[in-house]
Amino acid sequence: LASLEAHPEPSIIDVSGVKIGKGHLGMIAGPCSVEDRDRMFRIAESVCESGANLFRGGAYKPRTSPYAFQGLGEAGLKLLREVGDKFNVPVVTEVTDPRLVELVAEHADMLQVGARNMQNFALLTEVGKSQRPVLLKRGMSATINDLLMCAEYILSQGNMNVVLCERGVKGFDNVTRNLFDVAAVPVLHGLTHLPVIVDPSHATGRPDLIPACALAGLAAGADGVHIEVHDCPEEAKSDGPQALLPDQYRQLAVQMKELAKLF
Ligand code: PEP
Ligand code: MN
Repeated sequence: LASLEAHPEPSIIDVSGVKIGKGHLGMIAGPCSVEDRDRMFRIAESVCESGANLFRGGAYKPRTSPYAFQGLGEAGLKLLREVGDKFNVPVVTEVTDPRLVELVAEHADMLQVGARNMQNFALLTEVGKSQRPVLLKRGMSATINDLLMCAEYILSQGNMNVVLCERGVKGFDNVTRNLFDVAAVPVLHGLTHLPVIVDPSHATGRPDLIPACALAGLAAGADGVHIEVHDCPEEAKSDGPQALLPDQYRQLAVQMKELAKLF
């Protein structure tokens, strides 16, 4: 179902009125975690003004340590919804458990399946039963074929609204958090009609490398860019060290919009 044989034309995915694919650029921005209310409104106001058309924030966080901040849960979902309504921007958030799909789908416009859960088949089946668009991130050790097969789990349940995301794979050099596989974008476009976006934040883990990798992703044909933005990275509850400041996002957004016009 994901293949170009099944569907030769690139798909456009509609996320509550915002289109991704075939010339429609998904500009997803926001903090890693949903945090306190004032901060959420402040970040959203800034990134939306800069041109972000989807706002992100995790309420359920898949953390390496069980003692690390796990997200605000349902309160975070409600807050995210409030922010989305206030700025009239669809919201994206991660769902980590099949039992939470219904609840998350009530509040969010798009369901994110994170890298760690890419092959959580019970979760994929459940988001496939939902009609909410899905942002499916590539696992850090997943091949392109693994990713496409995971998309297939969702599509085969009847949910055709899937956007794929390259977010870096395990490399051998910890100079970057992961290894940004920019070739994954044209490789995927040669195999599937589904839109493909890039996430230079998790791919590099370094704010200084995000602009180059965001622009490289677009030059490779990405249908969108997913970037973490925080107004005070030192205080962030997760992924602070990789966050762009709102002003840095503003500058990059100008360049991304200009570059996207060439394609
Ligand atoms: C995230 O988007 O905050 C996240 C946890 O991403 P990934 O699943 O790609 O690590
Ligand atoms: Mn993150």
